[in-house]
Amino acid sequence: MRWENLTVESGEPAEHGRAADAALFGADAVATRTFDTPEFRGMTFHEVRARSVLNRVPGASRMPFEWTVNPYRGCSHACVYCFARRTHAYLDLDTGVGFDTQIVVKVNAPEVLRRQLASRRWQGEHVAMGTNVDCYQRAEGRYRLMPGIISALTDHANPFSILTKGTLILRDLDLLTRAAQVTDIGISVSVGFLDAGLWRTVEPGTPAPERRLEVVRTLGEHGIGCGVLMAPVIPFLSDDPAQLRDTVRAIAAAGATSVTPLVLHLRPGAREWFMAWLGQHHPHLVRRYERLYAEGAYAPRWYQRRITRQVHELAREYGIGPARAGAARRIRPAEPAPSPTAAEPTQLTLI
Ligand code: SF4
Repeated sequence: MRWENLTVESGEPAEHGRAADAALFGADAVATRTFDTPEFRGMTFHEVRARSVLNRVPGASRMPFEWTVNPYRGCSHACVYCFARRTHAYLDLDTGVGFDTQIVVKVNAPEVLRRQLASRRWQGEHVAMGTNVDCYQRAEGRYRLMPGIISALTDHANPFSILTKGTLILRDLDLLTRAAQVTDIGISVSVGFLDAGLWRTVEPGTPAPERRLEVVRTLGEHGIGCGVLMAPVIPFLSDDPAQLRDTVRAIAAAGATSVTPLVLHLRPGAREWFMAWLGQHHPHLVRRYERLYAEGAYAPRWYQRRITRQVHELAREYGIGPARAGAARRIRPAEPAPSPTAAEPTQLTLI
């Protein structure tokens, strides 16, 4: 989409990088800011004024929703595998470090959304958030766009959902509670695995998985059921049966209403970045990945089915479901894990 949907704040002088903006976006496209605090060091925020924030998902999409709101582009959570990386290329921005540090902020998103929701043409359809990049990434701590967005949706009793890895969502707990009283809301937190070493390198800007599960627990305790998107399950790094068990068990203990596994996919933009990371951190796996993802962005169906079946079986075993939402759970400690080969053939023997 590049910048056709965005207009500059009139008369607002840019604080930094005006010349660079001119090169990147055209003569007077954006206001650009940096903040000299440890949290935002090395990051640049491109503030834009959007004409529209309700985006229609193309009909051919595999997504189960039709409308989205994305107040940010780029994401400081910096997940190496992030499929949204390639959307930065549409803005003539770098899909690697640039995606992690050059954040586009639609500073007027709350008021534009409120105006669009009030339009007679708007039919009150479900609005999904966090589907492109995380709306509770670090920038949200400063720009505080989500309270206005949630309030606008609540005032119009418009159903919505949020998917996030950000613990910042708990800042808006009161607003979410109020929204849940007037409309259908769905909150999901993404936790693909618990492995601390893997987390630090592959999702370096995100809160730790345990902190995300605390979000699930806290939401449940406040009567807001929260599902977990167990994503991504990363082949050969987080798909061992013992790892899957530990993760599902922790998700259950947090009181999640559901768990949905999703195997890593590697679309263009993310694929190059992920494979470079793999070569640096796990070089012995590069050949196996080239074979597993030889057909394209997705792992083979047999592999996806196997992960889905294993996670669903574990979810049943640990009793994950709406009836247990928010309930404190006592779950017996994990048994020593059987070796992968004892449980079923490893993927190594199958590809
Ligand atoms: S939190 Fe989501 S949007 Fe942000 S980098 Fe990670 S996968 Fe991408």
